[in-house]
Amino acid sequence: MVLSLVVPCYNEQANISLFYDAVKQAFASAPYELELVFINDGSSDQTLEQLKGLLEKETCIKVIDFSRNFGKEAAMLAGLQHTTGDYVGIIDADLQQSPDTLLDMLKVLQNNPQYDCVAAYQKERKEGKVLGFFKRAFYQIINRLADVPFTNGASDFRVFTRKMANAMISLPEYFRFSKGLFSYVGFETYFYPYEAQPRAHGESKWSFRKLFGYAIEGIVSFSTAPLRFATILGLLFSAASFVYLIAVIIEKLTFGVDVAGYPTIVVLILLVGGIQLFALGIIGEYLGRSYMETKSRPVYFIRDVYTNETDKPEA
Ligand code: UDP
Ligand code: MG
Repeated sequence: MVLSLVVPCYNEQANISLFYDAVKQAFASAPYELELVFINDGSSDQTLEQLKGLLEKETCIKVIDFSRNFGKEAAMLAGLQHTTGDYVGIIDADLQQSPDTLLDMLKVLQNNPQYDCVAAYQKERKEGKVLGFFKRAFYQIINRLADVPFTNGASDFRVFTRKMANAMISLPEYFRFSKGLFSYVGFETYFYPYEAQPRAHGESKWSFRKLFGYAIEGIVSFSTAPLRFATILGLLFSAASFVYLIAVIIEKLTFGVDVAGYPTIVVLILLVGGIQLFALGIIGEYLGRSYMETKSRPVYFIRDVYTNETDKPEA
């Protein structure tokens, strides 16, 4: 059995050799042949040199060098497309996700043929209260809106069969929200609890702003409910204004009450203007994405693929 490991790397120079040693150690006595696919996602440090160094130690290895930073989603896609194994695993290079855990997950997958995927999820997240609150809120919202289920705490840390890998590769979209895509392609998934370790070196590339953008992307990619929300909001406000109109006419005709003036108008204009911009923003999110998708630009560009399997030329 061949296991392909996809490892996206962005500025991970201090972690590469530690990661490699950890994988070697975990799989030393395991009955799997390993294929390592590293993606250098436009790192500005010595990551590529470190990865090239591994070529001397390892026979079955590919190093894909991107022309610039395209993001982890692009790196994962490129990685998947370069795997040949019967099983495919995705794991971070920063040692937050232990290769030993991956081996245990692989065993679960192999011993339970009804599953095509074993996905790790963090039972307890080590993060601040505020961030935790936002993440829970995100999962509640997206699970209400989207047609496919999203498991709280589940990550890209998973192992799956070739069938599932091929399904993932066949999805052509430019905006890739893999948490959702894994769910979208179907197949039975077993959720495996794990504890994320602290980063070995370097720092996380996720700021709160980036996470927020990622959350919006997830919702827009997997649901059109916000568009309907804009419609409903519009209908509600039209109805409310109609009721108010009737009330004003009745007040004037029967009680001779003058309509309250300036402040009411200002408040209403601001409120309605705000809601209109909000609805326009929702439409804009979808329009922008369909604009980008229609360009059908490639998800990434590769500068070079380094490998030492000389008998198998790279496509
Ligand atoms: N990564 C990448 N491209 C990026 C950002 C991150 O390939 O633009 C890789 C990174 O090197 C790491 C993994 O994706 O192996 C997870 O990134 P990070 O540790 O920053 O995320 P976190 O663990 O904090 O969610
Ligand atoms: Mg990390």
